[in-house]
Amino acid sequence: MTEGRERPAAPDSVRWVIRKLEQAGFETWAVGGVVRDALAGRRADADWDLATRARPEQVRGVFRRVVPIGLEHGTVGVLTRGEMYEVTTFRRDVETFGRRATVEFADNIDEDLARRDFTINAIAWHPLRREMRDPFGGADDLAAGILRTVGDAGTRFAEDFLRILRALRFAGRFALALEPETWSALCEHRQHLADLSPERVREELTKTLRSAHPSRALSLYAASGVLPILYPELARCLNGRGDGRLDSWSAALQMVDIVSRRYPLARLACLLGGIGVPSGDVGEELPPEERAGMRAAELMERLRYSRADTEGVSALVRAAAASPEIGAGPALRRWLHQTRQMDRRHLFRIWIARARLDTVLGARNPEPAVLSRWRAVRAELATHPPLTLADLALSGRDLIEMGMRPGPGFGAVLAHLLDLVLDDPALNRGPILAFRARLYVDARARASRTSEWPS
Ligand code: ATP
Ligand code: MG
Repeated sequence: MTEGRERPAAPDSVRWVIRKLEQAGFETWAVGGVVRDALAGRRADADWDLATRARPEQVRGVFRRVVPIGLEHGTVGVLTRGEMYEVTTFRRDVETFGRRATVEFADNIDEDLARRDFTINAIAWHPLRREMRDPFGGADDLAAGILRTVGDAGTRFAEDFLRILRALRFAGRFALALEPETWSALCEHRQHLADLSPERVREELTKTLRSAHPSRALSLYAASGVLPILYPELARCLNGRGDGRLDSWSAALQMVDIVSRRYPLARLACLLGGIGVPSGDVGEELPPEERAGMRAAELMERLRYSRADTEGVSALVRAAAASPEIGAGPALRRWLHQTRQMDRRHLFRIWIARARLDTVLGARNPEPAVLSRWRAVRAELATHPPLTLADLALSGRDLIEMGMRPGPGFGAVLAHLLDLVLDDPALNRGPILAFRARLYVDARARASRTSEWPS
């Protein structure tokens, strides 16, 4: 029975789109995420996706403002006041081969629901008639806390291996147990995940990291054996020490949950936090934080993350793995210089998460220490200290005007000046730096001359 469960409250614009299509003679339903989320009692933050009997050209005939989003898949975007809704013609799968299905248009909603992946995703809702179409019992599965494929699990995963990751994500997001056949088919097909495009794997990870408690889905990645296939370096963080201490994977998962879902990149940095554990591979001689940063960057490059995200997250992983001591005065400014390329607020979010985890594990509450570090950073930044070469009151051009020739020695002069002003920001004035630059160059020249003579 689905009586008494939450129905999606369709906005007026959605009702308008459906009414227009039905007045033109085309049956139209709301489908997918929005129906499922409403039944699960979630605020409907999913998009309203509509399925209709109208063919794309017929949809275009009904509305004045349309966007051809994916005509070959039967999807037309319909624009209403400020909103766009995806209207997709009923489809059936005719041929599937592990990644993408060839679809053809169908005439009724039931066929369209049958090609969807899980029962909870195969429910249609008609907001005007207030009618639910749920041929596979998705509402009951949702209420009973079960994730189940539509039809034979093995067949459905073989049609599209991405469904394996979707299953883990939805199970985590709605705290569902995988129905036994779905679970065993999923585990059976996991090897094929290696054939998915990195972009699709990344997209799944990002969606998982945006959910309220990613640890649930991520634990299923580990339990199903998906982890070593997609993320072998993370699988190595799972250890069977059995000494009662948290392994680095479990600690990372708890930290991921503690950081707000608004910051998926900070969560990703938490997840990758344990990645520096020694494994006997190359790079073993590196300090652990360097090793962690390097492996994080490798993993993200493999998943084709943008360069900016890769650099930002690997810098966070490195900084989070290093000592949290930030010092004061010159040491603090040097630390600010080193961390100039990352979003330091993320680093503090990670530190706070670790502090909370430590508190749960019985350590004396280390959170005040993190907060006082944060205040120190804020206070120092408020004085706008020079932290980069670009902040120096003397530029490379000034050095040329002083008669120096551009060359390899140039960078050393500027680095020396930066070092001086990190020590004492009051030195950051043109004439002082010009003077100090000359002293430095002269001293170097003397040193190289004397070094020509054996002592
Ligand atoms: P969310 O957008 O919150 O991740 P969703 O259910 O809306 O969840 P989408 O990927 O937007 O997920 O897909 C919309 C609907 O299309 C799904 O609810 C499902 O019915 C169907 N669907 C999406 N991807 C697949 C797939 N790989 N195989 C079968 N059906 C799918
Ligand atoms: Mg969606």
